[in-house]
Amino acid sequence: MRMNSLQFFESHYGQFLDELINFLSIPSISTDPDHAHDIQTAVAFIANKLSSIGIEHVKIFPTKRHPIVYGEHLKAGASQPTLLIYGHYDVQPDDPVELWDTPPFSPTVRDDMLFARGASDMKGQIYACVAAIESILQSDTLPVNIKFILEGEEEIGSPNLVDFLISHADLLKADCALNTDAGMLNKNIPAISYGLRGLAYFELRIFGPNRDLHSGSYGGIVHNPAQVLADLISKMHDAQGRVTLDGFYNDVLPLSSDEREKLARYGLSDAEYCADLGLPSLWGEKDFSPVERLGARPTLEINGLLSGFTGQGSKTIIPAHAMAKISTRLVPNQDPEKIYGMLVDFLKKNAPSTIRWELEQMSVGSPSLSDTNLPATRALMDAYKTVWGVEPALKREGGSVPVVADMQKHLGIDSVLTGFGLPDDRIHSPNEKLDLSTWRKGIQSLIHFFYNVKKD
Ligand SMILES: [Zn+2]
Repeated sequence: MRMNSLQFFESHYGQFLDELINFLSIPSISTDPDHAHDIQTAVAFIANKLSSIGIEHVKIFPTKRHPIVYGEHLKAGASQPTLLIYGHYDVQPDDPVELWDTPPFSPTVRDDMLFARGASDMKGQIYACVAAIESILQSDTLPVNIKFILEGEEEIGSPNLVDFLISHADLLKADCALNTDAGMLNKNIPAISYGLRGLAYFELRIFGPNRDLHSGSYGGIVHNPAQVLADLISKMHDAQGRVTLDGFYNDVLPLSSDEREKLARYGLSDAEYCADLGLPSLWGEKDFSPVERLGARPTLEINGLLSGFTGQGSKTIIPAHAMAKISTRLVPNQDPEKIYGMLVDFLKKNAPSTIRWELEQMSVGSPSLSDTNLPATRALMDAYKTVWGVEPALKREGGSVPVVADMQKHLGIDSVLTGFGLPDDRIHSPNEKLDLSTWRKGIQSLIHFFYNVKKD
């Protein structure tokens, strides 16, 4: 019974928190080879935990780098849905360590907040799922079937996940995924993210003369690569804030008036953004509100520029080369693989014959949209209404969570993307924290969710 599971959780809350603290004490930093041993420790920790609560066939699958942990509990039978619970046990690096108030891998509770690297992103979220399932298994039978897939490479771009999804598609077969790697709108309003932007990232290099030149001896006869780069970049947007690459908007799904109305409920105003960001005014496509521009419109950004002399004082040169890092955030149904071709066409058309250029594609990730009428989405919305007493926000994310699109593409399933982190959790930054009051409510919500999603 639901009540017994909720009571079990309440009476064992302190124990779950202690276990989370132990999990967070393991510095499972995926990018740093010096922490390879800690990755193994984290894998063993979570695999043992899953086995100890009754998850079956727990298996550690090696990949080219960090292992994937799998486990299942399929006793609800074929008439009940199967949920694939995704998580990542790896964390971001902790530097700069000196900016942490307490050591990143000595988890500390202050003011009902737990400070540690990975507390919010996302060991706390994994543990919320584990605590909810353990609470049910200890007091009842699990109403639905579940499978766990926990990877250790999310913070380095999940280089081995797609191969694993493809080669283990049968093992991972499910009706829907539960991904708690997103967050709440604020402390009082939980959220489900149904739209994610994709990404395509490039480096553009402009080559001029074979060396930096004296600007007096050569100025006027050599086309300056920094100027060429600036000219090119200035042509990538028009005066209305639209990206000018040919065909850039062709595949963009338009927003329905119904969706625009719903999104408008959760957006900040121009004035609120300006106050927060210290800006005189916002910028962007004129016909769309900030919340629409962030979630449902594609963008092109200059992420960095490098050229010539930037030290103290002055040095009169024409630089030999110039470089820009350029990324695009993409929305359904844009194909990240097509953007490279559009940029190449743009450069062929606009780059002058006075220089040479090179364009390198660095990385891509697909955008995604999930069905907001999935039974699991409705079950989670009902759970949030029960626990928080408010209608949860359905939102589009400006950022990218590639695993959601990867699971759509390779497993044919949508994800319910949610989580109990808050916008000010400082994930990836010093003093990352998890708000324990929302974590606790999140676990209660997940317990309700697993009962709600059961078919009668
Ligand atoms: Zn994460």
